Amino acid sequence: MKLERIEKKVYALAENWIGKKHIPSLIRQLNKAFKPYIVCFSSERFEEEYFKDHNVIVSAHYCNRISDIVPEHIYVQLNFPKKQRKVTLTKEGAQNLAIKIIRAIHHEYRHKHQQRQRPFLLQKEYKPKPKQNKMKAMYYGNPDEIDAHAHETQAEATCGRFNINKLRSAHKIGWKECEAVFMYRLHFRKQDPKVWKRFLKKVYKSNEEIQTISKRARNSK
Ligand SMILES: [Zn+2]
Repeated sequence: MKLERIEKKVYALAENWIGKKHIPSLIRQLNKAFKPYIVCFSSERFEEEYFKDHNVIVSAHYCNRISDIVPEHIYVQLNFPKKQRKVTLTKEGAQNLAIKIIRAIHHEYRHKHQQRQRPFLLQKEYKPKPKQNKMKAMYYGNPDEIDAHAHETQAEATCGRFNINKLRSAHKIGWKECEAVFMYRLHFRKQDPKVWKRFLKKVYKSNEEIQTISKRARNSK
């Protein structure tokens, strides 16, 4: 499925997310919009603090085919605040949630693609530098994660959160504008600039790709 089609689907649903929403029906809508062997959704609760326009946490996973009953799929989990029975979404909150879902799908699609190219090969592990947070550095430093995180920035780029020109000032982008850029800067810019640069190069490349695609689409109209 084309990534643009995914964006269209999610944004169309998001128009009805503003206000007080019944969580199971929100999940049902999402599941109805996608084929289960491509993307499926489920919900959980969390207890931590959150920002008003960022009250839903999205996590996702690409799962290889396990058996005939469990085929290959992308699993997306939406985590809602525990205190509320229904979720209340502001206009910005609904938009943020849509971007988070799209971003997660972009990211997992990339993993799917990576797996197809070399199904049985394991990636080399990243060796954390002395001053790094070991777990975070190992996760973000993994070559597949660098690639997938760079790829997911397309979700924020297409909705106009930032553009390639603005990325020249990548040291200023905050987590609300682009989470991946923020996280790589935080964990690598000073600690291991090679990784930070490698990541940015990939961001430029994947964003150039979508710019040419949208230009082509505009010209053919
Ligand atoms: Zn990943």
